[in-house]
Amino acid sequence: MTTSTTPTTFSELALIQPLEARLIELEYKQPTPIQAHVIPSVLKGKDLIAGANTGSGKTAAFALPLLQDLFAQKSKGGKASQGSRGNYVSGLILVPTRELAKQVSDSIKSYAVHLNGAVKTVCVFGGVSVNTQMLALRGGTDILVATPGRLLDLISSNAIKLDRVRTLVLDEADRMLSLGFTEELSQLLALLPKQKQTLLFSATFPEQVQSLTQNLLNDPVEVQLQSDDASTLVQRVFNVNKGEKTAVLAHLIKQNDWRQALVFVNAKNSCEHLADKLYKRGIEAEVFHGDKGQGSRTRILDAFKSGEIEVLIATDIAARGLDIEKLPVVINFDLPRSPSDYMHRIGRSGRAGEVGLALSLIDYEDLHHFKVIEKKNKIRLEREEVAGFEVDDVVTEEMLAANKPSAKPAGLGKKKRKKKDNGNSDVWLKNS
Ligand code: AMP
Repeated sequence: MTTSTTPTTFSELALIQPLEARLIELEYKQPTPIQAHVIPSVLKGKDLIAGANTGSGKTAAFALPLLQDLFAQKSKGGKASQGSRGNYVSGLILVPTRELAKQVSDSIKSYAVHLNGAVKTVCVFGGVSVNTQMLALRGGTDILVATPGRLLDLISSNAIKLDRVRTLVLDEADRMLSLGFTEELSQLLALLPKQKQTLLFSATFPEQVQSLTQNLLNDPVEVQLQSDDASTLVQRVFNVNKGEKTAVLAHLIKQNDWRQALVFVNAKNSCEHLADKLYKRGIEAEVFHGDKGQGSRTRILDAFKSGEIEVLIATDIAARGLDIEKLPVVINFDLPRSPSDYMHRIGRSGRAGEVGLALSLIDYEDLHHFKVIEKKNKIRLEREEVAGFEVDDVVTEEMLAANKPSAKPAGLGKKKRKKKDNGNSDVWLKNS
């Protein structure tokens, strides 16, 4: 998708020297495709909707031009510089999870180290004391990274005002525009000035979200960089007998010498159950979900990132945007409910051009749902089996159509039937 006019070096992007110097220190040799496409438009003040694979460098794509704009405003003594004199904020970045808020804010602060404190960044999210955040917001801030709920609390206690926001960024925009956030987001949008630049970023933009984005954006530049051939992430799917998923997972963890493995399940208590079951099989795993206090969430994530924790079992709160450097594998123990969450989960591995692996374990009750995930995400994966855990039965299209996956056809027992996939049967078959 790179065109002859797409910048291929950071110097072509006309970033100011303190930012460019920082990128050299960070050993960013050239802009990622999303950065090359997005930065020039954002610098021109355009609205933008950008879809790019998670881990593709989205944060810098909005953070660098935002820092550059605010730095210029401050140097000129422009309106944005008044932000730091009256509880105002100029650049507002909304994200769906606390961990992502911290990660984005840390990245922005890192990119800004040579701006000599000219651009102030504050990060606010729930689950921790509000007082420290109020103190940090005293006198306003140039950039605020926030989760919606906590931001509304801070607005209601007059700790921050949104009337002077110049740029609004919705990171993981599809999640921000989905049902769970509708009310909070519409309250926040109502407090923002009409005239502003709006930037939407997400790996996926499901259809139901696309119509919502129209109302938010003014003549936006559209950037879509979902390219499979550039992907360094290998996706595999294993057919597993019902009741054998834990055994298969334990086997895979033991057999493969993964430095770390991130295992997704669908419920908080499933995290604990699976951790107990793995422990009985000699594998220590930590759990990460919304019932954990923020202190433990941060500690666990840091320990996982540093490699101290090798197996982390998590709900979808870990699916969005988190950057775990060189994470070798993501495993879907439970399939995510929404097809777009599949993309977000697997995007934790294979980030920034690293080689990654995403495995899904499916039993026959998952077959239909996995087909939907494939269809929506325009992928088709060859079904595999794990040696020593071969599946018992053939599941046919008719069984799926009848929506009774547990109703085994009469006479079907262990390895009684083995058919080639001729299009009539699903691939509960050996790939022989
Ligand atoms: P993000 O998609 O923003 O979470 O970024 C994913 C990872 O890519 C982070 O670890 C960034 O530090 C890294 N990164 C971002 N841009 C570049 C670049 N141009 N060159 C190398 N690494 C980058």
